Formats: sequence, C-alpha cells, structure tokens
Amino acid sequence: MTELRIGCHLSAGKGFRHMAEEAKSIGANTFQFFTRNPRGGKSRAWEKEDLEAYRVLARENGMEEIIAHAPYTLNPSSSTPGTREFALQVMAEDLEKLEDVPGALYNFHPGSHTGQGTAQGVARTAEALNAVLTADGTVTVLLETMSGKGSEIGGSFREIAEILSRVHHAERMGVCLDTCHVWDAGYDIRSDLDGVLEAFDWEIGLDRLRAVHLNDSKNICGSRKDRHEKLGRGMIGFDALLAVTRHPGLCHLPFVLETPNELEGYALEIRCIREGRMDAGCGLGL
Ligand code: FE
Ligand code: FE
Ligand code: ZN
Repeated sequence: MTELRIGCHLSAGKGFRHMAEEAKSIGANTFQFFTRNPRGGKSRAWEKEDLEAYRVLARENGMEEIIAHAPYTLNPSSSTPGTREFALQVMAEDLEKLEDVPGALYNFHPGSHTGQGTAQGVARTAEALNAVLTADGTVTVLLETMSGKGSEIGGSFREIAEILSRVHHAERMGVCLDTCHVWDAGYDIRSDLDGVLEAFDWEIGLDRLRAVHLNDSKNICGSRKDRHEKLGRGMIGFDALLAVTRHPGLCHLPFVLETPNELEGYALEIRCIREGRMDAGCGLGL
C-alpha cells in the first residue's frame, strides 16, 4: 500500500517554501492554499527563488500534488457581466501563474446562478472554463462538489457532470469531492459510502475524481448549510471519514482538511487519520 497523502489548508502569506515546511512539521505530504486573498483581491507575483526552494522540499517530502484554491467569492456563473468578467480574469491569471508550481491542481467553486436557474448557471460556468482553458496549458482544473446552499450550482453530481460535458478541453478537468459539502447536499456517505460513489461513478466517472476535501459537518445530511466541523465532532463522524480515506476507490487521492483548526489541531487530525483511530487525539476525546 502506498502512503496516504493528507494535509490541510495553509496560509500562503509566507510563500511556498514556508508552506512545505509547515506541512512537513505536521506530518502532511500535501496541502492547499488560496491563490490570492479569498475575497479575490490583487495577486502578487510568486518569487522564483521561493518556488525553486519549494520544488526541492516537495520532492524530498513526497508532495507530488497540492491544491491551489481559487478565491471562493469568484462567481463565473453570475447574472452580472462584470462579476463574470472578474472571475475570468482571476482564473486566467491564476492558471498562468500555476504553470510554475510543480504538482498544483487548481480547485474552484462552480458558482451561484443568482436567480437565472441551474441550467443557465451550468452553461455560464462551462463558458468560463472554455474561455480560460487553452490547449497549451497543463494545470488540471478541479470543480468542487458543493452543498447546494442558496443558488449554488454543483450541489449534485449531475450538475458537475453537465458542466464537464460542455468543456472543450475536458482532458484538463477533474473533480474535488468535499465530504462536508456532499453530505450537506444529501449524499449519505456515513451509512452508504459505496452507494454515493456508485452515483458519482454513474454521473461523472470515478476516474475524474482527483482530490478530496476531508471535513466533518455541523449539520444533518441534506441540510444544504455548508458549515465545516472538526473530524469526529460533527454529524458525519470520525469512522465514516476514516472510511473515506481507506476506500479502495479513494485511498490513492490527496486528502485536504478544511476543518476549523489551527496548526496543532490539523497535526492531531492528520495523526488520527494516519493511525486510523480517533483516540489519537480527534473529536470529543481531545
Ligand atoms: Fe472550496
Ligand atoms: Fe472544500
Ligand atoms: Zn465549504
């Protein structure tokens, strides 16, 4: 069995080398970061020397893949042209910069249709992808499964599949499954993980799945709330989340924690998942 790849969301403020060192210090061999201020502000250039140092550290520590998360406020499916234009600009610029980051997968939220209806939202998100994905780019772009709160699209596997079917450079596309989001959207990964994965495979294809956001949820299945919880303290529970990381169809993927934690909390969760037991420090036993 190959080693489990697990990490957490980290602050990008001090650069790539720092993130790799921080990840290593908490037993992580992958991580996630925001490509820029989550509110979608101006992005600064990434330093060449920092990326060089990162490349060496990543190789030494088996960090083959990391996740670059687009600002979550981007809305490529908005009914407002200016909002869509801004999303396009940010995505195009991020994708260009990420060509220099080894192993980076670009994850983004499909958006909210803001009253236009799901079909139109789906069409607009695909349109955005067709505008930013060029034949010569190499970065894989991940659509994140969403909870379906408000007018969010991507709350069903069907919607994700519909976006994918409209993208011309589909070979550059993948999916990131967020455990809190799918649970909140109504997919019961606690009592029927196999059934949920069968539905995913039927609608999207399991070969499209490239990463997992490993989060517990504060709410019940189908609540459409999107409030993340620490592993073992939420409604999904530690055992069901552990089973996600051990599933033969998933265990080879990178797992990223987006739980409400500081670095020490993440270190504990990573240890619990690696050791396969909650009494290593997760949940209520803390
Ligand atoms: Fe996300
Ligand atoms: Fe997520
Ligand atoms: Zn979320």
